[in-house]
Amino acid sequence: MKQAQIVVVAGDGIGPEVTREARRVLEAVAPQHGIALHFEEHLIGGASIDAHGTPLRDEVVERARKSQAVLLGAVGGTKWDAMPVATRPERGLLRIRKELGLFANLRPASVFPALAQASTLRPEVVTGIDMLVVRELTGGLYFGEPRGMAVVNGLREARNTMVYDESEIARIARVAFEAARGRRKHVTHVHKANVLETSQLWVQVVDEIAAAFPDVTVVHQLVDSCAMLLVRDPRRFDVIVTENLFGDILSDEAAQITGSLGMLPSASLGAGGIGLYEPVHGSAPDIAGKDVANPLAAILSAAMLFEHSFAAIAAAKQIRDAVTAVLDAGHRTADLLSPGERREAIGCRAMGDLVVAKLGA
Ligand code: NAD
Repeated sequence: MKQAQIVVVAGDGIGPEVTREARRVLEAVAPQHGIALHFEEHLIGGASIDAHGTPLRDEVVERARKSQAVLLGAVGGTKWDAMPVATRPERGLLRIRKELGLFANLRPASVFPALAQASTLRPEVVTGIDMLVVRELTGGLYFGEPRGMAVVNGLREARNTMVYDESEIARIARVAFEAARGRRKHVTHVHKANVLETSQLWVQVVDEIAAAFPDVTVVHQLVDSCAMLLVRDPRRFDVIVTENLFGDILSDEAAQITGSLGMLPSASLGAGGIGLYEPVHGSAPDIAGKDVANPLAAILSAAMLFEHSFAAIAAAKQIRDAVTAVLDAGHRTADLLSPGERREAIGCRAMGDLVVAKLGA
């Protein structure tokens, strides 16, 4: 049996509701693939502020460091909105990402056939979308120095710096090529090399890493044309790898064309080999505690956990197939219903029950 140490930080709002369903799914699948799960539950965000006066305790960071994977719900809520930025629930999230050195953010964007109508694009354009955006998370314009605002010669001036060294590019490129190996073996590197030296270095280093992956094809795509192609012909993309700012924008664009926020999982991978898995959505205080949240983004994050932290590709596929089957059978949480659709919505727990039942546990 493979041993799996998992820290669960469910957080606030709908976080605990959706994470509970994701955990049930992990428990249903793991034994079928020779994995023994060991869970620890800890507080993060507002829940941790209420109990301990801080959004993330050092002990939780230490436990996360000793684990192989962290499953996170969501943090934040109106109750803590008036707090100073430095002590708000979101600080807990930023800190755990930083402490674990998570430099690669993976966001799959795929369209479940049963939900093709939910996209703002025509169904014939979105049916079959299956891409993975791999975004560099700890470098580039968001962190580069010098930065800041000043008054120069009587004019307000602001400055940010985009800087990457080759090691930062190489490690994220490797993540992208390895992910492509488990998919359709195609990497699109998104850049602006016609005007940016940082992009020129990215092109060089991505090509160097590509040499070690002869089974994977790579194309270099300008960021502006990529933004257009994402809405014109999104099916052409398999893995997209790009720097922090471009990735921030393109991952939201890719997510949006698939439809519902309640369906989008994510993984963040770090230098220490620990992965953090969380739905893209927030704590949704407007629906918290009502058993109406869609747990599928959290459940699909659990699939990513198996795939990336335990190389359990078959287990991940089993979860995705179960989600597909439940949607194909017509089951929907409220967020997945189109306006005027007459079928009855099911709750968070009921959706979890249906997925678990499909998993044959
Ligand atoms: P949100 O994602 O929480 O909600 C946006 C809208 O989508 C809401 O109407 C909500 O009801 C709906 N929604 C979200 N997830 C859903 C799900 N699984 N099922 C059904 N409907 C769902 O974003 P927001 O309202 O801007 O933020 C609420 C709080 O969450 C804030 O405190 C914010 O800081 C926090 N937040 C946390 C994270 C995170 O923990 N990663 C991310 C985004 C926002």
